[in-house]
Amino acid sequence: MEDRFGHRISYLRVSITDRCNERCVYCLPDEHQDWLPRDQVLTFEEMARVIRVAAGLGVTKLRVTGGEPLTRRNVLHFFRLLREIPGIRDLGLSTNGSLLPKEVEHEGRTVTMAAALRDLGVRTVNVSLDTLDPAQYAAFTGRDYLSHTLAGLEAARAAGFESIKLNCVLMRGRNEDQLPRLVQFAGEHGYLLRFIELMPVSSTEVLTEENFLPLAEARRIIERSTGPLTVRPDFKTNGPALYYQLPNSEQLIGFIGAMTDLHFCESCNKLRLTCEGKLRPCLGSHLETDIRGPLRLGVDDATLAEVFRATVDSKPKQHDFRDNYQPGRKMIAIGG
Ligand code: SAM
Repeated sequence: MEDRFGHRISYLRVSITDRCNERCVYCLPDEHQDWLPRDQVLTFEEMARVIRVAAGLGVTKLRVTGGEPLTRRNVLHFFRLLREIPGIRDLGLSTNGSLLPKEVEHEGRTVTMAAALRDLGVRTVNVSLDTLDPAQYAAFTGRDYLSHTLAGLEAARAAGFESIKLNCVLMRGRNEDQLPRLVQFAGEHGYLLRFIELMPVSSTEVLTEENFLPLAEARRIIERSTGPLTVRPDFKTNGPALYYQLPNSEQLIGFIGAMTDLHFCESCNKLRLTCEGKLRPCLGSHLETDIRGPLRLGVDDATLAEVFRATVDSKPKQHDFRDNYQPGRKMIAIGG
């Protein structure tokens, strides 16, 4: 699939639940959430069918996200279904990490969730970590789970994922002091750390000018402790991060700047499937196409493929975040 601007679409991000066990200030700050009724959320079998159609159209990379994907009941069943889909060569997971160390039954053995996922073909895991300070972690996420997340990272290391990335959302006045510490922590453990600019994806008062910390400023804060960083435009993962190398070190750190990087959308190869069955061509646009309706009407795969093509045709040249964007759905409902 190719969009109107020549982007080859090969990456699908699938949100399997809108529920989460944390309450991050920039994502899902309210204690009392209106979760989607269960019958509005696609079953794992429905999701797998949509993904099979996507794979037939050239999608090779899949990232499972949420909400917190590991809170969904029987989540390993979903990964078993994914294993059966030909064409998906690169399977990743985005998680807050807190449930990775949990013990689960997998093929007659008790293993960690991380080990079971690795065994089921998950290649990479991205773990959200905005701070290494327990009190700050609790303030960011509404939960005192830092020790769970750190144990989750250990479980992921033990499970042998091909890459473990850390995602840190930047917030002025909240975690600037943590940036050098996070760089050091990532370096010591071999994690690829990325800093993410706050995006206006939630309808919350947290997304203000005062809270916004631009990447350039974050980089200066880091350079004060590491010395000058060298840009490495040759180093690419699958996303929009721009990587920099630390002086006298092999360590790279990534910067994801949806707001200040004017080239952010240029290499976008992504679509999103929300847990209630909307296909979205862009995180920063209100465009979406319903695929649950046709799916539940029993249409054939060719008709579902048309829904994909229509979504790809509607893919905008760039996101609307810089254009006084008013959040519609919360990030939690789209899948970050
Ligand atoms: N629960 C999982 C997790 O914690 O990674 C997956 C879902 S979460 C929505 C995916 C990513 O989106 C996380 O790295 C999170 O920090 C990021 N995110 C959520 N809201 C954001 C916002 N307003 N601006 C920037 N990143 C955000």
